[in-house]
Amino acid sequence: MSKFITRFAPSPTGPLHLGHAYSAMLAYDMAKAADGQFHLRIEDTDIDRCRPEWEALIYEDMHWLGLTWEPRVLRQSEHLSAYQNHLMSLADRGLVYPCSCSRSDIRAALSAPQEGVTPPDVYPGTCRHRPMSDRKPGDALRLDLTKALDQVGLLTFAETGAAHRGTHEVDPKFLTREIGDAVLGRKEIETVSYVLAAVIDDAAQSMTHIIRGEDLYQITYLQVLLQALLNLPTPVYHHHRLIRDDDGKRLAKRDDARAISTYRAEGKSPEDIRKLVGL
Ligand code: GLU
Repeated sequence: MSKFITRFAPSPTGPLHLGHAYSAMLAYDMAKAADGQFHLRIEDTDIDRCRPEWEALIYEDMHWLGLTWEPRVLRQSEHLSAYQNHLMSLADRGLVYPCSCSRSDIRAALSAPQEGVTPPDVYPGTCRHRPMSDRKPGDALRLDLTKALDQVGLLTFAETGAAHRGTHEVDPKFLTREIGDAVLGRKEIETVSYVLAAVIDDAAQSMTHIIRGEDLYQITYLQVLLQALLNLPTPVYHHHRLIRDDDGKRLAKRDDARAISTYRAEGKSPEDIRKLVGL
């Protein structure tokens, strides 16, 4: 039987909160129970929002929570050329195109009258005809979803999280309707999007199980497609419930009241955190 290898992959864009603690502790517990490995990966490709002080706080909070991880921490900012190579391999196959649309361009195109049809909230394909040779500084790179789907057969993935347990087919109609031509290369040249970097690293780190929040469930369909296009294995997915605030809203990085560092400062213990998140 293959070894159980999983990871916690926070972005250092703010303090870890209860939701992160739940995700990290659940992945850690599942790895321990399976006598497997638990890795920490720092997803710091977003140079505008990531800060060294948030990264330092991640290590501090994780240590305080009593978690230990495999010695080599993968920091995505140190692997940008590997991501770029994969992105360019998709571009060489004609699966990616440059896009100069701003958010407001996209909104305007989406709100064009369509006789009673509510347009889906996905990219309308304005730049789809543009060749890569036309890429200008500041252009994003998008996946041509229709062409990409033509290159793969039936795709499936296994899910073990309670809300979606079972084997799922990647339905092309769902991807077209809900995801569309996703941005894979961000506006900053040499920076790829989280969806692509995560898929490349999950394979590079031989992840067998991806344990993460329910908010990332839909993106799994796109990630399984990217795995097929790049000839990478598909791990087992486990999407867990989200930790919500008293009003039922999902916690966000700005919820300092539920930051782990706040609980620490208030004298709470890691056991208290486990109880708070229901572990
Ligand atoms: N970096 C992502 C986040 O902070 C997690 C990605 C993943 O677990 O696949 O939400």
